[in-house]
Amino acid sequence: MNNTPYDYKEIVPYLVDWYEANARILPWRLEPTPYHVWISEIMLQQTRVEAVRGYYDRFLTALPTIRDLANAEEDVLLKLWEGLGYYSRVRNLQKAARVIMEEYEGELPCSYEELLKLPGIGTYTAGAIASIAYGIPVAAVDGNVLRIAKRLAGSFDDIAKAKVKKELEGIFTAITPKGHAGAFNQSLMDLGATICVPNGKPNCQVCPVMHLCLAFKQDLQMQIPVKAKKKERRIEEKTIYVIEFENKILLHKRGSKGLLAGLWELPNMQGKSTIDKVQEQIQQEIPEAEVTVQSLGEAKHIFSHVEWHMTGFHILFAKREQMLHFCGQLNALITQKVDNSGSQGNIFSEDTNQLVARKEIKETFALPSAFDKYKIWEEK
Ligand code: SF4
Repeated sequence: MNNTPYDYKEIVPYLVDWYEANARILPWRLEPTPYHVWISEIMLQQTRVEAVRGYYDRFLTALPTIRDLANAEEDVLLKLWEGLGYYSRVRNLQKAARVIMEEYEGELPCSYEELLKLPGIGTYTAGAIASIAYGIPVAAVDGNVLRIAKRLAGSFDDIAKAKVKKELEGIFTAITPKGHAGAFNQSLMDLGATICVPNGKPNCQVCPVMHLCLAFKQDLQMQIPVKAKKKERRIEEKTIYVIEFENKILLHKRGSKGLLAGLWELPNMQGKSTIDKVQEQIQQEIPEAEVTVQSLGEAKHIFSHVEWHMTGFHILFAKREQMLHFCGQLNALITQKVDNSGSQGNIFSEDTNQLVARKEIKETFALPSAFDKYKIWEEK
């Protein structure tokens, strides 16, 4: 194995030239203000460019300035983020916007170190804002850069290790060219998204740094990068209840901690049920119940550390008292089985439970995409 350190400096002019001729046209590149770069980079974490485009325009139309973001109502903010997932990202955006209003006169600080102090901004995002919006020569190392760098060097380092990332941040900051910091960092983003791709074989024949790439020379592109497997996700079985009365659906607000903290959801319980069991449960509680129960099928949702395997039921009540009675029983069971997932609460407290008209849910409430299969109000 070759132990000579790879000279990353050589790639810089090729990538900057290539970027200047081939940059992708993206909405946030049209006017790369610090605010625009910041919002786009936060949205792009764990989300594809194509999915982000629409969200980005909608978000900036609703909240065109940092002041608007700082002052936005939580429900409005969550609604703008609905479908993007990882809601802590948008909460941190607002926390940071408030700090910026209070401590930086409404402008994102023009310093990598100061940017790093803001909630939700790590080394990658601080590097992206500093280099793209302010031209500061600092690296923005994410999974793309790790992959490209290790392929270029033909290195089998484990890119899941923090020290590997830290080392590359130092190297890439040292080679980021003054005057072209934004172009260099964005060239790596584009190369990683379009040519040196993570899944499948990279398209080396059109890569501007193919002649400098050791993985290409040694045909190791598919073996690199090496990334240690994460721990397997925990699987949770859940039963989802879509409880309806007079065209209104019962929504429940999750607790302020844990997964999907503070978001509205469909009432649910740990464990898998069947239509017979749900019907039996209702009959036991309310023998005279006037109710229709329908299966809504199964669905799976993957979070970073846990998978929900869900079974859903639509329970349509004809009488309000019967619905309230059933919900009371359900709530007792939910409370008994309360777990770490943040589901909690008294089902009849108005702060945490509301019967909401079908149309109003779509317009006003941000329900996590985990419940997409069971959003029956969106069918009509
Ligand atoms: Fe990636 Fe291939 Fe370019 Fe090497 S030559 S950096 S493997 S696309």
